[in-house]
Amino acid sequence: MARHRYVYGPVPSRRLGRSLGVDLVPLKTCTYDCVYCQLGRTARRTLVRREYAPVDEILREVAGKLSAGPAPDYVTVAGSGEPTLHSRIGDVIRGIQAITKVPVAVLTNGSLLSRPEVRAALAGADLVIPSLDAGDERAFRAVNRPHPRIRFPEMVEGLRTFRVEHRGALWLEVLLVGGITDRRETVAKIAGLAKGIRPDRVQLVTVTRPPGRPGIRAAAPEVMEDLRALFDGPVDVFAGPLAGEPAETAPDDAAADAEILDLLRRRPCTASDVARGLRASALAVGKRLDALRARGAVTVTVRDGHSWFEAAGIPPGSDEGPDRSDGPAET
Ligand code: SF4
Repeated sequence: MARHRYVYGPVPSRRLGRSLGVDLVPLKTCTYDCVYCQLGRTARRTLVRREYAPVDEILREVAGKLSAGPAPDYVTVAGSGEPTLHSRIGDVIRGIQAITKVPVAVLTNGSLLSRPEVRAALAGADLVIPSLDAGDERAFRAVNRPHPRIRFPEMVEGLRTFRVEHRGALWLEVLLVGGITDRRETVAKIAGLAKGIRPDRVQLVTVTRPPGRPGIRAAAPEVMEDLRALFDGPVDVFAGPLAGEPAETAPDDAAADAEILDLLRRRPCTASDVARGLRASALAVGKRLDALRARGAVTVTVRDGHSWFEAAGIPPGSDEGPDRSDGPAET
C-alpha cells in the first residue's frame, strides 16, 4: 500500500461522519499556541504563509485514497497546525473538488480570515469551521496565546466579513476550557460576538484529552448544556471527545503503534474503538492505523458498514484470536 504523508483516514467524526483528512502543514505550524492544544507547544508561532506541502503531491494522495475505498462524507482540510498558513490552500480545495463530488470542509482557527487573500482562498469550500474560544482580548491572549501581531477585534471582524462573503456553510466552533472559559459571563460575551457573525450552526466543544498542562480540563457536560441557551440558532453540544479533529493529533510514535497492535491482537476494533480503548484521538489513531496498514502489520475488513482492524497473522479461531462478542462502537 502506498504511504501517505498528507492524507489520513477516513476517520470517524461525530460532526463530519467519515472524514478523509488532509494535513497541509508540518507539526506544529500555527498562529496560536492554545493552552488546550494536544499537539504540544507551538515552538514558533508564525504568520508566514507558504507552500508547506507540495500541492501536486497532496492531490495525488487524495485521488489515490478516494479511488481506494467508499466515498467519505467529507474531505477535511486541516493539519497539524493552522491550514490557512498554506499559501495554496485555495488550489488544494479547488483541486479536490475537481476530482470528487465529496464536500470539502476546512477546519481553521480563523486567525487569518482578516486577510482578503485568505478569505478568497476559502471561498470555494463547502463548509468552513472557524474557532472562537474567547469573548475579549484578555481571554483570547490567555487561552489561544496568539502571535503578538494578531489582534482580537481584527480576528473577529475577519470572521464577520467571511460570513458575509462566503456562500458555503459556516459552523462556528467554541471550545470551552473547564474553570477558565466555561463561566456564564465569559460565554455570554462569546455568544454576543457569535450573534454578530451569524454562523449556520454553533458547535460547543471542550477539551477532549488532557494536554498535559496543569489546570487545563474539560467543561462539565451539564455546564455546557446549560450554556447552550446563550447562543442564537442551532447549537450542537459535544461534551465528549470529538473524533477526527486536527487538534487531537498525536505525534508519530512507536510506543503508540505497540499499544495499538497489542489491542488488535486481542480483538478486532474500529478506529474509534481503538481511540476509545487507548484514550487517544480518532485522528491520531487513524494516522497510526494507516501507517500500520502500509507496513502490513494490520489488516482491515469492512463489515456492517464499519472498517474493522485486526493485527495481521493471527490465525482465525486461535486462542489468541479476536473476540467478536461486541458490536462496533458508536462514533
Ligand atoms: S489547538 Fe489548533 S489553533 Fe490552537 S495551537 Fe493547536 S493547532 Fe493551533
